[in-house]
Amino acid sequence: MKKSSCMDEHDPDALSVAEAQRRIAAAVQPIGASETVPLHAALGRVLAEDIVSPIDVPPHANSAMDGYALRGADLPESGARDLRVIGTAWAGKPFDGFVHTGQCVRIMTGALIPEGADTVVMQEHVRRTDDSARVSAGGKPGQHVRRAGEDVARGQPVLTAGKRLSPAELGVLASLGIAEVRVTRRARVAFFTTGDELRTLGAPLGPGQIYDSNRYTLHGMLSRLGAELIDLGIVRDTRAAVAAAFEEAARQADAIVTSGGVSVGDADYVQETLERLGQVNFWKIAMKPGRPLAFGRVGDAWFFGLPGNPVSVMATFYQFAQPALRRLMGEHVGEPILIKLPTATRLKKAPGRTEFQRGVVETGAAGQLVVRSTGAQGSGMLSSMSKANCFIILPADSGDVEAGGLVDVQLFEGLV
Ligand code: AMP
Ligand code: MG
Repeated sequence: MKKSSCMDEHDPDALSVAEAQRRIAAAVQPIGASETVPLHAALGRVLAEDIVSPIDVPPHANSAMDGYALRGADLPESGARDLRVIGTAWAGKPFDGFVHTGQCVRIMTGALIPEGADTVVMQEHVRRTDDSARVSAGGKPGQHVRRAGEDVARGQPVLTAGKRLSPAELGVLASLGIAEVRVTRRARVAFFTTGDELRTLGAPLGPGQIYDSNRYTLHGMLSRLGAELIDLGIVRDTRAAVAAAFEEAARQADAIVTSGGVSVGDADYVQETLERLGQVNFWKIAMKPGRPLAFGRVGDAWFFGLPGNPVSVMATFYQFAQPALRRLMGEHVGEPILIKLPTATRLKKAPGRTEFQRGVVETGAAGQLVVRSTGAQGSGMLSSMSKANCFIILPADSGDVEAGGLVDVQLFEGLV
């Protein structure tokens, strides 16, 4: 029994995960179109231009502390020295005199360094009496001054095309005074689920029926990518319905994502329809969950036919469709970040397929990070995805992993 299931994992016709990813990456090219949007509408969009700073940031030298601005040469080498306080510099309200030797200016964080001064002493290190400030030894000339252009210098490249804009980039762009940016056009992605057993939410379940959960996970995963979604609903397992759905999807979309109907043994008319409308490869991937995957062109759209099982849909979406859709939208997609962690639980695995087991990264008893399995790993058990915060990726040739063994972990956080 064990032996035959083990043999079953080795399929000479199956494509490795890496090879399927490579073929998809080689095929899918960016849409190329772009539009200009105001900064507040740019979150999550992909930059379509390189950004070079038009100004120095900060634009002028200013104080990093509340304290006193003075000439570095006036800092005492030992003991203390009294300097005359000749005014105050506020953030946004500069002191417009000149600081001569023996003088200082009360200064607030962010205020311009007055002319003549080049150094700030924090107020905690100064004894103030009426119009004089006693500064002790120990300071360094130039200290607590933010130099003009120290964050970003004028003319310096700041961001490159292909960058997905996060809150940090919005702030960086705002600090440069850039109010609008050119971003790539959102990809239009049509999606539908297939199956006679599927019911929409709100309808009671009859015998053998289940709710259509895949359309919601797909909706969620596609929304996060910033795609423009075209939800074509549940498509029944008939030749006419499948053909109509693919035709409509191909008319409107840059990409089509479906669930179900691509396994060996599924109705031939899916294959037939796709042969008529485009060029689609039906692959068996050496991957668990998620063996079947269809990829190709339907009309002018890219097509990702994901398996029907709910966990398989998510695993194959993240490994194949998501990087491709990001590339389609012009995003620069790097290699996924994998971290090696010891597993706290024994992981069962037969050699043959790359497994994407669901795991939880947490702090172990000794205070270091470990990963543990979420438990049962059936490809229909969607709750395992919700309990998990990572995939534990076990390479195809790996067998069982004992507790304490090091495994590759791909965190869900950051999967977009
Ligand atoms: P299929 O690939 O169509 O043979 O489906 C494989 C398994 O996934 C079957 O148990 C289906 O009932 C289930 N399934 C297919 N589509 C969905 C869906 N949209 N939501 C939840 N389960 C589904
Ligand atoms: Mg089905």
